Amino acid sequence: MICLWPTTAPGRTVRRRPWPANGRDWKSSIASPDRIQASADRAGGNLSQILLANEQVEPWASIVVAADGKVSTYSPEFMEVTAPDYDNFVFGNVLDEDIDDFANNPAFRRAAAEIEIGVAACKLQCRYFAVCGGGAPVNKYCESHLLSSTETDFCRFSVQASADALRSFLSDKRLES
Ligand code: SF4
Repeated sequence: MICLWPTTAPGRTVRRRPWPANGRDWKSSIASPDRIQASADRAGGNLSQILLANEQVEPWASIVVAADGKVSTYSPEFMEVTAPDYDNFVFGNVLDEDIDDFANNPAFRRAAAEIEIGVAACKLQCRYFAVCGGGAPVNKYCESHLLSSTETDFCRFSVQASADALRSFLSDKRLES
């Protein structure tokens, strides 16, 4: 199975900065107000990129091709899910179908419409939308069998918990400084 799933947003480059090698205490360097502000800015920037790059709610932004030619999109894990109502999330086959026809596949069109409803509902209801972008359709389906649903255990324990922890950490650091 080939999974075409970008790990960084298009056009982004990842640069790693070496730790200070000039004898400074790295812990105090990290905890300095300037450093905390920079970390907060960077975290905000990264979270913005997550929103821009939520490939899981964009059709064909990530594509999975199985060894037998079957093609799926949205959440890569869809290829492993049994879902008769959506033809198991297989939206075409590169071995015997024209790629241009995949978007007209009835199961794809149904999934696309319901995922769009779910993302719109997330946007309306959820205060974490800015750092999530509407979640993972595969988790919505596996937890509720509804692609148009919103909150899942997965988003509560991953996106929401992480965002709360980051906010709490930054707020504690601001009080300390
Ligand atoms: S955190 Fe959950 S409810 Fe909120 S936008 Fe993401 S998937 Fe939707």
